[in-house]
Amino acid sequence: MLHKITSPANPLIKTLKGLHAKKGRAETGLFLAEGARLALEAADLGVWPAIALVAPAALDRPPVRAFLAEAADRGARCVETSPAILEQVSKRDNAQTLVCAYPQRLSELGDLPADGFVIALDRVRDPGNLGTILRTADASGAGGVILVGECCDPFSVEAVRASMGAIFAVRLARAELGAFLGWRREAGLQLIGTSLNGRFGPEAYDAARPTAIFMGNEQAGLTPEMEAACDALIRLPMRGKADSLNLAVATAVTVYDLWRRRGYEGAHG
Ligand code: SAM
Repeated sequence: MLHKITSPANPLIKTLKGLHAKKGRAETGLFLAEGARLALEAADLGVWPAIALVAPAALDRPPVRAFLAEAADRGARCVETSPAILEQVSKRDNAQTLVCAYPQRLSELGDLPADGFVIALDRVRDPGNLGTILRTADASGAGGVILVGECCDPFSVEAVRASMGAIFAVRLARAELGAFLGWRREAGLQLIGTSLNGRFGPEAYDAARPTAIFMGNEQAGLTPEMEAACDALIRLPMRGKADSLNLAVATAVTVYDLWRRRGYEGAHG
């Protein structure tokens, strides 16, 4: 039997609404993820919510009922509420019928595998870019994404939405530049920067070696210090008026080129 909440003034509903703000996420250590498909996929990965808010319509679905029963067994607060309150919590019309709050999880650099490739992001600002890059990292089997320096919050609603569930699947670490550079040296990863100052062509680096791909900030690109620390700088060819690609697009092109040169190892289907 689920506990029911009918008032938007209920403290739990206020806490969930507060997760749209960085302060609310920092105070609770939680983040919001919307949708039954995401919640079921996260559960398959062994990731369970702290709070699950469900509309009556979703309770007709046996997988959702089973999910809620197991989440409750694992200590989640599972609550039934109205579609109107779910819309307030997700700040969207036609909100999903299941909205969950999850504990934020970050990995240590030392926990990232050093035998494949990872993606490092220099001061990424745009949560849509970050979420999209997490999705690309998941799709291409990156060993992790490293947020270098002052980055936007990967647990914001915008980043989580853009990640399409990859926030649960991809190892995410934060590091200052010095710690990141020290880790990659010790782990034996070559550091490949992407920059308009680089050169293009398959000879630019050896894709078979363990690699950290380093992507620059949306406005400024990699700093001269970062570029100097790289083993190679690559430039994606451009023609046309724009001088650069969007960060998430450049990341996808670079990572997929690396993976292609590894024969798309591990791809399914
Ligand atoms: N004005 C910035 C600059 O001068 O670098 C443009 C930054 S771009 C929007 C964001 C990041 O995407 C770059 O720092 C780089 O990592 C990557 N990027 C975008 N276009 C690229 C290209 N043609 N070649 C290599 N990297 C590129």
